[in-house]
This record gives sequence, structure tokens and C-alpha cells, in this order.
Amino acid sequence: MATKRDYYEVLGIAKGASDAEIKKAYRKLAKKYHPDANPGNKEAEEKFKEIGEAYEVLSDPQKKAQYDQFGHAAFEQGGGFGGGGGFYGGGMNFDMGDIFDMFGFGGFGGGGQRRNGPRRGADINVSISITFEEAVFGTKKEIQVSVTDKCDTCGGSGSKPGTHAETCKRCNGTGQERVVQQSMFGSVTSVRTCSACGGTGKTIKDPCTSCNGTGKVKKTKKFEVNVPKGIDNGQTIRLAGKGNAGELGGENGDLLVTVYVQPHRIFKRQGNNVYSNVEINFVQAALGGEIKIPTLDGEETYTVKAGTQPETVVSLKGKGVPYIRNNKVRGDHIVTFKVKIPTDMSERQKDLLRQFYGTPVDGMNFEKKDDEKKGFWDKVKDSFKD
Ligand SMILES: [Zn+2]
Ligand SMILES: [Zn+2]
Repeated sequence: MATKRDYYEVLGIAKGASDAEIKKAYRKLAKKYHPDANPGNKEAEEKFKEIGEAYEVLSDPQKKAQYDQFGHAAFEQGGGFGGGGGFYGGGMNFDMGDIFDMFGFGGFGGGGQRRNGPRRGADINVSISITFEEAVFGTKKEIQVSVTDKCDTCGGSGSKPGTHAETCKRCNGTGQERVVQQSMFGSVTSVRTCSACGGTGKTIKDPCTSCNGTGKVKKTKKFEVNVPKGIDNGQTIRLAGKGNAGELGGENGDLLVTVYVQPHRIFKRQGNNVYSNVEINFVQAALGGEIKIPTLDGEETYTVKAGTQPETVVSLKGKGVPYIRNNKVRGDHIVTFKVKIPTDMSERQKDLLRQFYGTPVDGMNFEKKDDEKKGFWDKVKDSFKD
């Protein structure tokens, strides 16, 4: 797939563009590239589609917020983010927030923050360890997390209850100060966050004793994490707004719970398929018959075909791991048959095998008359019965 152009670039507008600007830019371009105005022009048609897609996202506040944070990754299947508002349409029924791979996670909460404006709280990263089965069938886990939260005593203001902060004298409440620096090109003026008030524009006279004037306190909070069916090792569950408190009215960060899945004794997982080896003895391989195969849903009865070769692979449809975005659908369970050659045979068993290999027609003749073959194998089978 070709790399997608930035939606703002597509509409020819700046990142901070207002709703009206977005609408205006869209209307102008849509008119220009409309298929009616460009009959038979493939390029215009593509452009028209691209514009439409960009507008669809940027005109929807929720989608726009996702796009601003995650870029195109917000709408990509797999590495994407399920939105609380049902971003992908039906099929999703988990409510704990979003699931995504850490890989699709570039530039989160970075840059672009106005010096003096609200600042989003920091995300908190924690991890949990769950069993293979819990990952397959989903689970709930309670976790305790140390979170920086708004101070209850002062309501986050940092001032002792009943007192008020004063306007910062250094910046006159703007939260910014001008700094003049001398360089070889002359004096350079830059604006930076006020060093006296840290950008709040206020000076706390009587600091709250609970939080020492910071407006924030560390709290240990309990959260219940809903781990959806089908989650894979290394995937992260996002509990939106459960991270550290924001500053200057900024929103809270998120709580990011990375899930580690313990390996299973016999099952291996790759994507939504489960892999396992199943041992059969050489008599079962030759004659076929019913065996029990351990699966995620318990033991399955399976009929091995006569003449099954070592390393034969069979697929148990729908016995794998549920898809995280549609847990009604499951992958397959892929079984490899390992044919076990006995190492501790009795003399009678050895004799029977010598008899088989020493048959007069041909040492390896499997094409003998049916009744004759059956008679011999039945003897072998009997001798291996436990
Ligand atoms: Zn306080
Ligand atoms: Zn200040």
C-alpha cells in the first residue's frame, strides 16, 4: 500500500485549522476535483476520494482527535485503535478502552503542546502477566497503580483552602517570559515558560499542606482491567484518562497496560492459530483409528487416517484463538503428528515385526491381500495394547 498523505496536507490546511477552515478547504477542493467536473480523469477521481477521506476524519471531532494523536495508525486495522465510540463499526464489544500494539505508537503526547496552555498528564505504563488460556478466553485483572492525582484538599489549586493564589509578578499572569540572549548575530529574544510560576501565571502564597502547593498527590489506585479474548503477548490495553493528572486543566494521561502471556506447556500460538504436536504410535499411523487431541476446548476425538505419515499436519478448524475484534471468529488448531517408534519392544513384538519385514513377496510389501494384511496388523496391534 502506498504511504498515505497527511490529511491536513491533503486539504492544504495547517494542523490547528478551525472547523470552518476545514470545511472551506474541503468544499473548494471537492468542487475542483469533483468527477462531474473532470469526466474520465482518473487522477481527479483519486484526489476526490482522498479529499473525502481526509474530510470525513477531520470533520468528526472524535476521529480528528484520534488522528491528531496517532496519525493514520489510528484507523489501521491490526495496529489500530478501537475507539470507545465504536470506531470500526460493529463487532467490538469490549469497553475497557483501546487495544493496540506498542509499535503503532509513535509520538504519543509529544511536541505541539502550548507552553502556557493545558498540559496533558503523563501516561503510566504497567504490565500484567496472564496465562495462555486467559489470553485466549479473556479475563479480568485487578491492578494497583501509583497515580499522580489532583489533591483533594485544595482541589488541585495548590493553595491552602480559603486562600487564593496571586498573579505572578514576573510574568503578570501570562505564564511566559521573554529572554534576551546575546549571540554572535546580535541579541536574540525568545519566549519561554515563566521560571517563577512554571507557566501557571500564579504564585501560591499559602501552599496547601497536603500537596505542598503542587496541587497534586500520589495515590495508589485500583483498576479492573478487562482483558479481551484473543489478546496476544506484548499487546497493550489502554485505559483512557486513568493516567496521571494533567496540568493547567489539561486532560489526564492514559494508563497503558501491556499484557505478557505465559507460554503454554503444549500449545504454541502464532497469530490466531494454535500449534501442537500429537504423538501417535506407528500402529495407529499405519492402521488409523480414533485418538484424543488436547485442544483449547478440551479433548477432541479425532480419527487418524490409515497410512498417516510422520509429520503429517492436520487443521482443526475454528479451534484456535478468537480474533480480538470479532471474538465469534477463531483461528485454527494445527496439529503435527509425531509418529512414535517403540524402543522397548518385547520379543514377541520384535518377532512380529521380523515376520512382517520377512514376508516372502517383498520385505516392505504393504500391498498384500487385505485379509492377510489385516491378520498380521491385528496381531501387532494386539501386542501393543496396554
Ligand atoms: Zn493540595
Ligand atoms: Zn509567572
